[in-house]
Amino acid sequence: MVIARTVIDARDAVAHANRVLLVPTMGAFHEGHLSLIRTAVADRKAEGGVVAVTLFVNPAQFNDPRDLEAYPRDEGRDIRLAEECGADVLFVPTVAEIYPHGEARTTVVPARIASRWEGERRPGHFVGVATVVAKLFHIFLPDVAYFGEKDWQQCRVIAEMVEDLNFPIWLRFCPTVREEDGLAMSSRNARLSKVARLKAPALYRALLGVARSVTEGEVIDSACRDAAEVLLRQGFGSVDYVAVVDEVTLEPAASVGPGLRVIGAATLEGVRLIDNVSVDYSV
Ligand code: AMP
Repeated sequence: MVIARTVIDARDAVAHANRVLLVPTMGAFHEGHLSLIRTAVADRKAEGGVVAVTLFVNPAQFNDPRDLEAYPRDEGRDIRLAEECGADVLFVPTVAEIYPHGEARTTVVPARIASRWEGERRPGHFVGVATVVAKLFHIFLPDVAYFGEKDWQQCRVIAEMVEDLNFPIWLRFCPTVREEDGLAMSSRNARLSKVARLKAPALYRALLGVARSVTEGEVIDSACRDAAEVLLRQGFGSVDYVAVVDEVTLEPAASVGPGLRVIGAATLEGVRLIDNVSVDYSV
């Protein structure tokens, strides 16, 4: 596996590839990240190409400096795991390599889709995400890029960017990888205390509960309100939102039908967890 630390080296590493398969990450790998890399490696085995993984903790997408400071980092372990999974290139740039002028002078600003949910709670977050992903797309010129459904709104923000800005890239959204008790894997889970870790799967259970009860006829608003109350009773410090939304536009759903998603975000001992599940509605 080639480790590239500069944009020039990254471009060199994929220059002769007939296909580039890109997996953008912020590192501190867990099985969620590794599932994306393994999917890309399987695609390479089937149809050829080069799998490039990027490892960059992007300051521009952190609205809270303490969150950036506390973000887990373990480059040595990440290098080993990426190599074990079969990645061909690992891009590990410095902040100065990605933002040579201190911060991006030109940014990608997602529109309406970024105004709600994560975008509302984390001002500037999706501008930071879209801008760095656009930069990575321009550095690697990938044919395929892999993202996790765990960050559903992020998937949709990137899908809109790719469509609106005509990036000739095929996006593959991969299913959320969970711990045995249902908790969605996340680098932030490492910051949960033992007690909080036991409470954390309640978020997933609450979202599943909303998905089930709205298909059984419960009013969407009351199902979401009940779920938020349950989470607070179970020890979550705050619930940012529990909502049933259109899975493409992320607009709140007025009634139950096909193509909906339950999304939620809540904080447990200062660690912010997000998750989402589909509403399995068949007509
Ligand atoms: P991050 O390093 O948190 O920016 O995540 C890098 C990529 O891994 C993103 O596309 C995430 O959506 C994806 N990802 C993170 N956690 C999971 C998970 N539990 N299951 C599947 N994909 C994930």
